[in-house]
Amino acid sequence: MKVIRGATTIEKDSKEEISSAVKDLLDEVFAANNLQKEDVTAFVFSLTADIHSYHPAKAAREAGYDFAPLFAAIEPLIDGGLPRCIRLMLLTDLDKKQTVKHIYQKGAKILRKDISEIINIALDGPAGSGKSTIAKILAQDYNILYLDTGAMYRACALKALKSGVDPKDGEAVAKLLPTLDLKVEYRDGKQYTILDGEDVSLAIRENVVSMASSNVSVHNAVRMKMVEMQREIAKSMSCVIDGRDIGSVVLPNAKYKFFITADSKVRAMRRYKELESRGEIVDFDKLHAEIVARDKQDSEREFAPLVCAEDAIVIDTSNLDINGVVAAIKREIQAKI
Ligand code: C5P
Repeated sequence: MKVIRGATTIEKDSKEEISSAVKDLLDEVFAANNLQKEDVTAFVFSLTADIHSYHPAKAAREAGYDFAPLFAAIEPLIDGGLPRCIRLMLLTDLDKKQTVKHIYQKGAKILRKDISEIINIALDGPAGSGKSTIAKILAQDYNILYLDTGAMYRACALKALKSGVDPKDGEAVAKLLPTLDLKVEYRDGKQYTILDGEDVSLAIRENVVSMASSNVSVHNAVRMKMVEMQREIAKSMSCVIDGRDIGSVVLPNAKYKFFITADSKVRAMRRYKELESRGEIVDFDKLHAEIVARDKQDSEREFAPLVCAEDAIVIDTSNLDINGVVAAIKREIQAKI
């Protein structure tokens, strides 16, 4: 026996959509695998519990797939699961060793990043907008990588600070770049930033590094080096990538682009709590002033400033809870996929 897998999603829970989605899925599974009626032992469907309007087994029978037993069952809804999804397990008489093509259509493509296209989701926005929290959740839910580009600029800044170089001094920082040994590593889905062989993932989060990173990121030589590294990573694997210039410069052709923003006071409070939870006590007003200064410098710099790409979807998170934002982003992604 050989099992062929497939899945698809529907936009609206209606009989028409379910019928056409089931037909399209089966048509593609049969065509891609050159299947004959006699190859099939049984059709097993499952559907997420948010689908009520029609029975996929019935839809399959009506589409002419009535030559083997049909079965369908409802899956429990899990947090972060793909909504309105119909899955297929086609049991066949093909030899177990035979290579088959599994088919993932529409929003379900994201379930199998290994057999679908490489997906890059660009999230830009100012400090504290919530983009890194959102990026982490999306990456986890979709089982793809999260590339935090801010960490790379932070590592550059740390290198300058450690070498006694003024992060504002473009020439001196540029001279450091050939010796910059920066690696981004992933373990258990978590990003680690390695500078000169040392794990600096925590050190780069210190508040002194924040402003220094904004200072080094102004220099074109720094940006060119970082952008090249980021493009290499994004080209080779599906990822959620967050920063300031992802949708505008790093991946202008990304299919999914979001600009996440929030009021500066709300953002300062988020950073305040984040630092506090790590035992770093800072003055709120000073932190707010630093965030405003960083926004200004990031937005007004000559090279790759913080801008909202024309085709990005803007989301203001000031009064939104993070799960609501993630759900909204997933809907947009699913509609475009
Ligand atoms: O996002 P995070 O606060 O970690 O970024 C640190 C700094 O790195 C930002 O203030 C910004 O100046 C710079 N940065 C950038 N381009 C990116 C990501 C971060 O210029 N893609």
